[in-house]
Amino acid sequence: MSNLELEPQETACGDAPTAARPQALAPRDVPLGGPRSMTVRRTLPHRHRRMVGAWCFVDDYGPTDLRGQDGMQVPPHPHTGLQTVSWLLEGEVLHRDSLGSRQRIAPGQLNLMTAGHGIAHSEETPPPEQRTTQRLAGVQLWVALPAASRSVAPAFEHHPTLPVLDDGGVAVTVVMGALGGSASPATTFSPLVGADLALGAGARTALPLEPGFEHAVLVTDGATVQVAGRSVERGTLLYLPPGPSTLPIESPGSARALLIGGEPFTERIVMWWNFVGSDHDEVAAAREQWQAADARFGTVHGYAGGRLAAPALPNARLTPRGRTRDA
Ligand code: MN
Repeated sequence: MSNLELEPQETACGDAPTAARPQALAPRDVPLGGPRSMTVRRTLPHRHRRMVGAWCFVDDYGPTDLRGQDGMQVPPHPHTGLQTVSWLLEGEVLHRDSLGSRQRIAPGQLNLMTAGHGIAHSEETPPPEQRTTQRLAGVQLWVALPAASRSVAPAFEHHPTLPVLDDGGVAVTVVMGALGGSASPATTFSPLVGADLALGAGARTALPLEPGFEHAVLVTDGATVQVAGRSVERGTLLYLPPGPSTLPIESPGSARALLIGGEPFTERIVMWWNFVGSDHDEVAAAREQWQAADARFGTVHGYAGGRLAAPALPNARLTPRGRTRDA
């Protein structure tokens, strides 16, 4: 996924006090671009919160009926300083990147791209004759890399199977990090967790949490879910501060949800367009190099269409700031 806003806001993150209370973060609709393309619901960054642990970007989309639609069409674009986490609820997406990866992803599988020093990729719904389904729903998340790992070599991982735990009528897929003694094989660079929760009607459980992590739950499908005693509607991201060692969840109807969490990200970073850097100059240099087709980002082969141009930088210098809006 690319940030396709025409005037992306600078988002400075890191090094802020942890919010003491849960926050319900409502999504905003963001068009992905193109006349027959999709709209996504964005809950991070949010005007009330920039990050949850190292998680710095959360889009969810669909379910979409793709008949007569292009679906997801995100032309080649660059990333630095982050990982992209692609997770589908329905349908399929084809990923191509400048390392030469070409990987279709299906529900239950993880596509994880570590941008590190720099990479370019495209994401697309296959053309109608190559589709195996006409439905599409999923989430796209970014994880900020800490300074020590921000410039690692780019890498792409596809994990066709992930550990699934069954707990009180909830099938828990461990996508990133570890939960309940099961660990995802995905590469991480800071202590964090990401898990998909498939909740049966009447499901009731208490998920084990790492008390030092902050967490958030996004209801991605179905009915309202009770999370830590609060009603969470579909599309809303409920932020939960560190402390508890369990997370009570009850679902009257069947639903899907995503749990993300991690150690509060204490470093200050700048996030702008598709880049994470430690300061304005790093981000400005990455933008310049992308615009100049510099070898830093390589070339994505096989995408039917041109590459995305970077938007103009804001007039003001990007200032690294706290991970919540109060900081
Ligand atoms: Mn992307």
